[in-house]
Amino acid sequence: MVGQGSANSRNLGHMWSQRAVVDYGLARRATIQSIRSGHMEPRDVCDAHPYLLRAARFHGEPTERACPICEHRNVTNVTYVYGDELGRLAGRVKVTADLVEMAQEYGEFRVYVVEVCQGCSWNHLAVSFVLGTGDPPGPCL
Ligand SMILES: [Zn+2]
Repeated sequence: MVGQGSANSRNLGHMWSQRAVVDYGLARRATIQSIRSGHMEPRDVCDAHPYLLRAARFHGEPTERACPICEHRNVTNVTYVYGDELGRLAGRVKVTADLVEMAQEYGEFRVYVVEVCQGCSWNHLAVSFVLGTGDPPGPCL
């Protein structure tokens, strides 16, 4: 699909360089704290959209982290990609293996990782970062 990519772009050293990383751990902990202290109801945060739950079920990546709310199930990571260069792929759910390929194919795109509990519907943004070759977009189409 991407015709401009030449064979020499397969530089493994640049395959997985995350840039502009935003860690949402603080906001996440604050939310969890509000639940535990009774300032927020679990139902205020356990509100995953059916689409997100479906994405977690079919495209999510299991983790070893227990759900902070129900503590019954491990959360699942659901990864979304956004970027002007992605065209119809923007907003799609991807798995890590896809990202590795995309990071070599596109100049720049942002990745959002949402953790989702399929038990109680807890969901929270975990981290976001930028991937890509860093090259400006080639002359497209
Ligand atoms: Zn849960």
